[in-house]
Amino acid sequence: MKAFRLFPFSILFYYINCLLPFINIILENGSVNSTKTTTYIYGHMNPDSDSIISSIVLKDYMQKMGSTNNIISCRLGKLSKESQYIFNFFNVTPPLLITDLSNADEVILVDHNAPSQSLDFNNAKIVGLIDHHAITGFETTDPIEIITRPVGCTCTILYQLYRQNNISITKEIAGLIISAIISDTLLLKSPITTKEDIDAVEFLSNYIDMNYKSFGYNMLKAGTDVSDLSENEIINLDSKAYKVNGYNIQIAFLNSIDIDEILKRKVKLLKEINNFIKTKHLQLFTMIIVDINDMDSTALVSGKFYNVVEAAFDVKVIDNEAFLKGITSRKKEVYPSIAKVLNSMKEYEKGSWIHFNFILLLALIILI
Ligand code: MN
Ligand code: MN
Repeated sequence: MKAFRLFPFSILFYYINCLLPFINIILENGSVNSTKTTTYIYGHMNPDSDSIISSIVLKDYMQKMGSTNNIISCRLGKLSKESQYIFNFFNVTPPLLITDLSNADEVILVDHNAPSQSLDFNNAKIVGLIDHHAITGFETTDPIEIITRPVGCTCTILYQLYRQNNISITKEIAGLIISAIISDTLLLKSPITTKEDIDAVEFLSNYIDMNYKSFGYNMLKAGTDVSDLSENEIINLDSKAYKVNGYNIQIAFLNSIDIDEILKRKVKLLKEINNFIKTKHLQLFTMIIVDINDMDSTALVSGKFYNVVEAAFDVKVIDNEAFLKGITSRKKEVYPSIAKVLNSMKEYEKGSWIHFNFILLLALIILI
């Protein structure tokens, strides 16, 4: 009787054993990560609040639009104090810090398109770009989805996508979008601000019943506290690399409510800036310290091409320092003015190079 009862179990056991490898294959292929496409979304290096927040907001939007991809919001650097303030305020988890793309099937770029500000484009299968910057050196092999608009913030574009597609916005997402727009437009006062940015902030702050002006000021103020940061950290906080006609330059920004306090550290800041210039072989590094109350700025300038800043803003750089009246925007004011001068210098450089070669040739002929 006992043997009879055990018999069918042992057969069953035998068959299960034979089937195990196949069951494993089915289970593995059915698991989340191997069948779904993993999409990484990230903004630029040394991320500001817009870069960090856009990656979260775009993920939410794509999921609400029905994407079944395994979407991961990422960031390419440390959270600033301003971003930390925002994430604490709305109790939201920040995106994943990444340094490579080994786990990504595809990439969507937000808030940047310059190779010098991203992970190596050659390792990324870029399938989309949502941005509000000038297109600089962006090339693709396949057709991709690109949405760029001349507005003050990437999150303004994302807000419009929700509205156009009648997608509901949660309170957290609304708060994050407001924060990003306030950050990029310096409380809607920067010259990059458009009516669309203002409309987005006004609509969303009404919607979540928030006084965006006092929140925004406190948020920006939280970002200005650099008392516990080293000079090296300060010059890298909101720092962007550009390549203009072969010249390598770096433009760092820092918001401040007390510029004199920052300038007390000028000697040490310049030392770090000069080290940075040496290691990265730069022609120019300028750090723009924006007074967010007066909306003027003070530039610290160093490098062989310091006079590019003089030409760009019609100022004199004295002791590596210049006052830039009314200048607050890297995207609309500082970068374009500097790039214009660098572009005009190329001919001169080329000309002098040809001139130098000609003299060398002449000297050789004479010698021979
Ligand atoms: Mn940005
Ligand atoms: Mn932005």
